[in-house]
Amino acid sequence: MGKVFNFLTFVSLSSVLISLLSSLEIGLITCILLLSLWIIYQSFQQVRLLQWLKNSYKTNPVTHGTWASIYSSINFLLRKNESQKNRLNNKLMAFKRATEAMEDGILIIDNDNQIIAITPRAEGYLGINQKQDFGSNILNHIRHPSFAEYLLSGSLNETIIVEDLSLDKKALEFKLIPFDSNQKIVLCRDVTKLRKLEIEKKDFVASASHELKTPLTVINGYLETVTEMDVSKAEKKRMLVEMTVQTKLMTNLIDDLLLFSKLEKVKPSNDAEQVNVSLMVNELSELSNKIDKNNHLIKFDIEKNIFITCCGEQLRSAFWNLINNAIIYTKKGGKITVRWLKTKEDEAVFEVRDDGPGIEAHHIDKLTDRFYRVDSARSRERGGTGLGLSIVNEIVQRHGAFLKIESQPNVGSNFIIFFPSLTTDVSKKVK
Ligand code: ADP
Repeated sequence: MGKVFNFLTFVSLSSVLISLLSSLEIGLITCILLLSLWIIYQSFQQVRLLQWLKNSYKTNPVTHGTWASIYSSINFLLRKNESQKNRLNNKLMAFKRATEAMEDGILIIDNDNQIIAITPRAEGYLGINQKQDFGSNILNHIRHPSFAEYLLSGSLNETIIVEDLSLDKKALEFKLIPFDSNQKIVLCRDVTKLRKLEIEKKDFVASASHELKTPLTVINGYLETVTEMDVSKAEKKRMLVEMTVQTKLMTNLIDDLLLFSKLEKVKPSNDAEQVNVSLMVNELSELSNKIDKNNHLIKFDIEKNIFITCCGEQLRSAFWNLINNAIIYTKKGGKITVRWLKTKEDEAVFEVRDDGPGIEAHHIDKLTDRFYRVDSARSRERGGTGLGLSIVNEIVQRHGAFLKIESQPNVGSNFIIFFPSLTTDVSKKVK
């Protein structure tokens, strides 16, 4: 403002001076000329400014005086605006990354249940596309009566699980959260695995109860017979022997169930240690000879000093299960070979081979299922719980190892556990 005032003062003074020195007309002409030049200069600068703004503020034009101040003020505002925009963008990106990292998918819907916003995770869960489905009704995508009821009831902060969604046979958990008077947030989470696990657990408890009930019913039956009927001494003795067998079966079952629950509770990586497994297999060879009492020809082939990072107790239990099965299922005089060695590829291999009855091919894939038995009656007779191989498999998997079963009826069976390369730290693979 000061510079404009200075210029106008300069024009007036120079016009007055020229009028005094020459004539009034020349003074006026000089004044009009100077003012016209000034207006032309201002118009030129305005056009330049407009051009500069249109060209996205590329290269600053060379200016002086007031115009230089205008350009630098605009530049300052632009820089401020740019840095605010960047900060906002960074915050938005961080928020987007956070919502993407979250297990929960997030949907924002209005009071008419129309989709306003949706995160990529929710897009994946619900098969919705933000661009295509923006503004569409959520009930057109989740066509499940219980979800519609839940949404309409407005049971905010409560959750609902919708299973078997037409989309992908998934189980999704939804939670409505009030957002503002016009909008609601719908959180959704994939709980398919959790539901499967729950069902598995329920089945497991039902099977375990059933398995325990069978010997209990037998024992009960004998006890009723003994107390209510006259039975000979020999008969009584036979019943007591049978009751002992059933009690042993129940004990084995409870032991295996406890082992299972222990496996679930303890993370093997917590117990992982460098174990000289060769020494452990050596101890098992002594135990086998004691238990077997020369009923079979058991041969152990153990390579010395093979160490692996593992949970020693769990591995011992898995190895013993396989050896014990071979002793139990192989007829008297049969041959059992146990090997613990290192391959050229640095894998560690534990193998139990027998020339017992063998197993038909169609059973092999199911042998590691819980409570699966090839011949239930024979297995129970021998105190078998049907849990042994599933425990072995669980332990093997927790150690990043792999169980292979080969068997042929009337030829024999071969159970092999492959441990990954010894150079890799097994504990890292333990889940
Ligand atoms: P169980 O407690 O019944 O032995 P497992 O899970 O250990 O349960 O084994 C499942 C089934 O696999 C057994 O019922 C048995 O029929 C069969 N089996 C396991 N090991 C052998 C083996 N070495 N020879 C033949 N059959 C076997």
